[in-house]
Amino acid sequence: MTWPAPQRSAPWPLRAARLLCALVMLCSGVLQAATPLAGAWRDVRDGDTPAKVMEDFRQGQMNRFAPDLLLRLPQGARGSWVVLDPQPPWVQEERVLSIYPPPLGTVTLYDHNRPTVSLAMDDFQAAIHGHGRLAFLLGRELPASTPLLLKFEPSARIAAPVSFRLQGWASYLQQDARWLVFATASLAVMLAMALMALCFALMLRDVTFGWYAGYILCYALIQGIQTGFVYHPLGMDWLGGLSITVGSAAVALSVAFASLFMIRFCELQRFAPLLRIPVLALAIGMVAVVLMRCSQLDALEDIGQLLVNPLLTLGAALLLLASIVAALRGSRHAWFFLAGWTPLLALTAMTSAQVNGALPGLDWLNDAGLAAGAFEAVVLSLGLADRALMIRRDRDEVRVLADKDSLTQSLNRRAWNEAAIQAMSNPAARPQALLFLDLDHFKILNDRRGHAAGDEALIAVAHALREELRPTDLFGRYGGEEFVALLDGAGEEEALQVATRLCRRIHRLEIPVDGEQLQLTVSIGVAVRRSHDSIDSLVARADQAMYDAKLGGRNRASLQRHEESAAQRRVSRTGRMSQRTS
Ligand code: GH3
Ligand code: MG
Ligand code: MG
Repeated sequence: MTWPAPQRSAPWPLRAARLLCALVMLCSGVLQAATPLAGAWRDVRDGDTPAKVMEDFRQGQMNRFAPDLLLRLPQGARGSWVVLDPQPPWVQEERVLSIYPPPLGTVTLYDHNRPTVSLAMDDFQAAIHGHGRLAFLLGRELPASTPLLLKFEPSARIAAPVSFRLQGWASYLQQDARWLVFATASLAVMLAMALMALCFALMLRDVTFGWYAGYILCYALIQGIQTGFVYHPLGMDWLGGLSITVGSAAVALSVAFASLFMIRFCELQRFAPLLRIPVLALAIGMVAVVLMRCSQLDALEDIGQLLVNPLLTLGAALLLLASIVAALRGSRHAWFFLAGWTPLLALTAMTSAQVNGALPGLDWLNDAGLAAGAFEAVVLSLGLADRALMIRRDRDEVRVLADKDSLTQSLNRRAWNEAAIQAMSNPAARPQALLFLDLDHFKILNDRRGHAAGDEALIAVAHALREELRPTDLFGRYGGEEFVALLDGAGEEEALQVATRLCRRIHRLEIPVDGEQLQLTVSIGVAVRRSHDSIDSLVARADQAMYDAKLGGRNRASLQRHEESAAQRRVSRTGRMSQRTS
């Protein structure tokens, strides 16, 4: 017995794309069973009557076409006639004729030479209305073999290609419900991401999130108008007469928002500085086009109309170029932008190609725009989350660097002070003690061995002190060759013990410099916190005790026992300073 050779499976992006297409087709109902149709069309002419058109059809004087493929009707001043001829097997049942993707103009269905019903996505008269398509309900009384006559009324809107499907009522309802679930989920994802981004824009005061939200909201609005979702089921009747203006404003604004977003998100200033100004100009140009088209001045509206398409094409190429350049030069988020935005760009390009007659079999591309929009919203949100994490990480790193003393890697004076104030603000009754450490005769070491050797010694001493202290003790470099440690939970005796241990450790420490072992000693002042102590007064008392240790012969710890007046402290500090400088 021989086994069949294992087949090489397609690469995963191809498999993922196939799966996505199948999902979109399933959800939008393309795979539903339908009655086969033959079709013919022609322009509306002077003196046309429905009977005359049907006669032309019977005599084969109309242009034949396949109704299940996309048909692009010319944007004639009078509109077009379309005849659909159901093919056997005929089933006498209640049926629905749907036009998909939905045309933006009005379509009238004729029955027995009389207009029966006129439908448009932005009308709200019809009792039942298709979702994501125009749907005409054909009663059971209409013979299943009767050719259907449709008139596409003249419209100022772009004539997008359409396909036709005739199916049973039950099958149509199933398809309609699936489409509603699919479109609602896609738009809900976009809206949820945009709203979340708006909250982040306010909370983090980062306008990048705001541009993203604007972009996604505009795109959702475009899709809502294109698929008719805003009219049915949302019922936004106020949009009815405004769909051209609102739609084109949304397109222009979405490009403006996308440009502003990508400038910041892909860090063009850093990774593609030369392209930043053109992208910014694109954003401003798009806003100008919107203003022109809403100006109500004929001349300006015409200029706006003239500019919009070239700007859109140029803009798409510019954004693509800028994101590729930024990605190749190291912008991590430019990859997120490319991953999220390129599928949508490809779909837009394919839909535009369909207007010129290409890809007639892919009537689901319009709906794929919804899925691509949701996909982009999620990918860009992930990118924004990654950006927020990166900013946080960078900020934490900067904070750590700002808090550390670069030589000894201990806390510097400012950071130690802040941490000590925080530790002392805790009203807990645990005792606290402060050790003030000053290396003995350090200047002599510096003078004899050089500054570099002094640095080595400081590093070794700080390391040894950190090792000797507990992790809970707050240790820092106070300045020069002076260190401080705030011991939590230590009273006089314990603090003195710790200080003595530290003296011994430093005394025993051997610091290798130029092949020799150097030795150092340290003097430590100890002060235990009193109820009224601030960090400054505690340091001052420990500093005073350290001075006592120096006077007592160095290499020792001294406990500050008796309270001195502020005046005495000042005198003793001044005395010490003069002794040091002498
Ligand atoms: P005393 O026993 O009285 O404390 O004597 P001392 O020499 O340690 O005291 P003084 O304050 O006069 O000297 C401190 C010296 O520490 C002076 C300065 O050159 C040195 N110093 C301060 N910061 C650094 C540093 O970052 N690296 C090095 N190598 N030396 C430093
Ligand atoms: Mg000193
Ligand atoms: Mg010293």
